[in-house]
Amino acid sequence: MEWITKQLLDWYSLNKRDLPWRHTKNPYFIWISEIMLQQTRVEAVKVYYERFIKRLPDITELASIEEDELLKLWEGLGYYSRVRNMQKCAKILVEKGYDNLPSTYQELIALPGIGRYTAGAILSIAFNQSIPAIDGNVYRIISRFYVLEESISKASSYAYYATYINRIIPIAYSSDFTQSFMDLGSLICIPKNPRCGECPLKEKCQAFLQKRVEKYPFIQKKKEQKIEERNVYLYIYQNKIGIRKREDKGLLASMYEFPNDTKSVSSIAIENDLFENGISYEQVLELGESKHVFSHIIWYMKGYLIYLKDPIDLLWVSKTDLFSRYSIPSAFSYYLHVIQKLELK
Ligand code: SF4
Repeated sequence: MEWITKQLLDWYSLNKRDLPWRHTKNPYFIWISEIMLQQTRVEAVKVYYERFIKRLPDITELASIEEDELLKLWEGLGYYSRVRNMQKCAKILVEKGYDNLPSTYQELIALPGIGRYTAGAILSIAFNQSIPAIDGNVYRIISRFYVLEESISKASSYAYYATYINRIIPIAYSSDFTQSFMDLGSLICIPKNPRCGECPLKEKCQAFLQKRVEKYPFIQKKKEQKIEERNVYLYIYQNKIGIRKREDKGLLASMYEFPNDTKSVSSIAIENDLFENGISYEQVLELGESKHVFSHIIWYMKGYLIYLKDPIDLLWVSKTDLFSRYSIPSAFSYYLHVIQKLELK
């Protein structure tokens, strides 16, 4: 066994975190946890994970749940395409007669939303197969340990780092090996100010020995994010709130939302517009501004609260239903707080 492998496994056996998904080898549960952990902190995932597997204990349940309830279960985790893809996977597998995830790389990688990392994580953690699972922790630790100058943002970086992992991944302890990177990367070899003094790899870590830890991993600069200015309209009619469903493609696909657009408006312009269209209203109030950062775009939003006397073509829902039945994306969280404070029956 390679020196680094032994150090990682020994350290992990003494220091591993007690996490709910570590009490199981059920591939379905491991998959859920991996997908949730992709964009969310471990502490936050614990609560979502427990709730999710309680309501959907296997792929059959996941395949058959109504989409609105599924999105509600996911609310707060964001990046909803992840859970939609999970349901697509479940449907495909159930249709093929599976009752859990398959155990081969080829089958897993062919499923929607399962990439090289997730397939590697499921196979190594749940099935103890020696398949690399390269995430940010692995990039950081391996690039520091071997002082690798390859940028981790390049399309080829996964395959490049996989060659290093393939050399050191043990056949018998792949599950612990993969998870040791997760814990070492979260507890010791953290992005800023790593705790090298406590690290089991410090004797041979080249970045540490050369005092160049902060230089790794190398990351090429990202493209600039597009900026979009949006108006968000909170329409109220007879104590109900007007929402609509987004298109089934693109950003926040099929999510419910408050009507919004990118027109250049003011409260006076909105009032004129309502008047010209013969829609009676009580008042139009300006709300605060908010910002939401997506991966490729930033929304700068300005809100308007509009009390109507005539309904317009929207889905009118009570305040209770809005919060319990509809999953409004976190991009609108500021305006959800506004609604929360309104006195609506
Ligand atoms: S010695 Fe420091 S830089 Fe090297 S792996 Fe350990 S924590 Fe990371």
